[in-house]
Amino acid sequence: MSLKGSCLCGGIGYEIDGDLSPAMFCHCSKCRKSNGSAFALNSPVKASDFKLLSGEHLLRSYASSEDAKRFFCETCGSPIYSKRMSMPEILRLRVGTLDDDIAIEKVSHIFVASKAAWDDIHDDLPQFAERPE
Ligand SMILES: [Zn+2]
Ligand SMILES: [Zn+2]
Repeated sequence: MSLKGSCLCGGIGYEIDGDLSPAMFCHCSKCRKSNGSAFALNSPVKASDFKLLSGEHLLRSYASSEDAKRFFCETCGSPIYSKRMSMPEILRLRVGTLDDDIAIEKVSHIFVASKAAWDDIHDDLPQFAERPE
């Protein structure tokens, strides 16, 4: 299965050749800040399955911790994926940037301990205070 996605301005386009892993709602303060939202829906993707189709020169990164970098479009600010330097073979795709409207398996809510007080979770997925091992 091949999936396409892009940033808000369209400068960055990408394709994923392979399956998305089940996605997690991340309520951590860093995902909230970088998305300007209650949470991010992130899906692990093999780096080897991810191909930039356009906008490589627009892709900027920010080191949000010693181990993690967040990649985003320098023009429109869309977050595209994050990567842990200790795990470079896996990207955590920001599912909201996909253009193909597909069913995605959601498995859990993580970092619920740092979710915003106004963020109400209305489903029965398992919730974890931080990242489950
Ligand atoms: Zn953009
Ligand atoms: Zn997060």
